[in-house]
Amino acid sequence: MILKVGSNKPFEKKVYLASPTMHGEEIEFVKEAYETNWMSTIGANINEVEKIAAQKAQTKYAVALCNCTSALHLCCKFAGEKLYGRPKVGEGSLAGKKVFCSDMTFDATVNPVVYEGGEPVFIDTDETTWNMDPIALKKAFEIYPDVRLVVYVELYGFPSNVKEIKKICEEHGALLIEDAAEAMGATVEGQACGSFGDYSAISYNGNKIITGSSGGCLLTNDLEVANKARKWSTQAREDAPWYQHEEIGYNYRMSNVIAGVIRGQYLHLEEHIKQKQRIYELYQESLKDLPIKMNPITKGTIPNYWLSALIINEEAMCRQVRDDSKALYIPERGKTCPTEILNAIASINAEGRPIWKPMHMQPMYRKNDCIGRSGTIRCSTNAYILSGVKDIGADIFNRGCCLPSDNKMTQAQQYRIIEIIRRCFD
Ligand SMILES: *Cc1c(COP(=O)(O)O)cnc(C)c1O
Repeated sequence: MILKVGSNKPFEKKVYLASPTMHGEEIEFVKEAYETNWMSTIGANINEVEKIAAQKAQTKYAVALCNCTSALHLCCKFAGEKLYGRPKVGEGSLAGKKVFCSDMTFDATVNPVVYEGGEPVFIDTDETTWNMDPIALKKAFEIYPDVRLVVYVELYGFPSNVKEIKKICEEHGALLIEDAAEAMGATVEGQACGSFGDYSAISYNGNKIITGSSGGCLLTNDLEVANKARKWSTQAREDAPWYQHEEIGYNYRMSNVIAGVIRGQYLHLEEHIKQKQRIYELYQESLKDLPIKMNPITKGTIPNYWLSALIINEEAMCRQVRDDSKALYIPERGKTCPTEILNAIASINAEGRPIWKPMHMQPMYRKNDCIGRSGTIRCSTNAYILSGVKDIGADIFNRGCCLPSDNKMTQAQQYRIIEIIRRCFD
């Protein structure tokens, strides 16, 4: 393998893609929980997190849960029960129902649909926004007019067309679940991400813009939904002196210890966003003469800049193939590919990552439909133009990669990473 990098000494401490950054207040809130023995799924930290999360996301209510995946699961369950009624015990609320889902995302967006028995139908990506393509969504409603639920994600904290998506949902009497796991603090025309869905979810996973090591919130404007989410997430206990149960419950509530960390982190959300913005803008400025584009910022939106990513122009791509676990490429003068860039970044002890591999390319979802602007995409692993329907997600996956975007990366470190990326194009 030829790496077009010289004898660069690797960083002594690894520069991560996105890792937790603590500040001090977090431990004070945790200590308070410890010293008062509120080491439980009840406590002041949880109440505070729910208050702050709702206020920041501009929703009436937030329900603190153990992670965003469980929040999305409850979102699916609420949507399913509202649309199709309460299921029989052992049956999912979306059993046998098709659900339109963002295709280019992390699988936690989509799996909860399957937990509830639904069948994800993927909607291809808009190449100008990297989010769900509204034109493809309209096409999907033409093909499957009975669908009543859409699960939508704001990729890498760069929101775009959620209002258009919402409008299309309303036109078809469909509900919208917004997976704002990556987009906390981002806005669209001044409105916070996490407030657009009929049910929305945010994440405090260790790699997100702020973290509790884990944790998530379900966001809603509906008091009944908020109360029911609290009930479902604490084993669905009825109001009785004994353990009384009318429906299936879950153990999804957030711990008061975790909530302490999150409470402290919220004090630094805006600061983290500023740091991420500086990182994005430095990449943008320093790479602007290369044949690449950074992840797009849509007019009227303010991203939280969680992950910086780039896509290599088609004419500057060397040949690269990937199977289900490995990648190969042929180095070529003046050209490069994500594999080469990621190897180069790794060679100096920094962490990049391929673009999230689209769901329709994942072995477990390969049989599910994926709908593009002109119809159903028939997926193979690498080709992105098959049966005449362009597969935008596969193309972005093929040509794109995420760059080290850690808050704690110094400017000097970022300049070296930039230099390493630039050399790949020599
Ligand atoms: C991280 C992430 C999730 C899952 O969040 P957890 O809190 O880890 O469950 C869901 N969706 C997207 C888009 C994510 O990036």
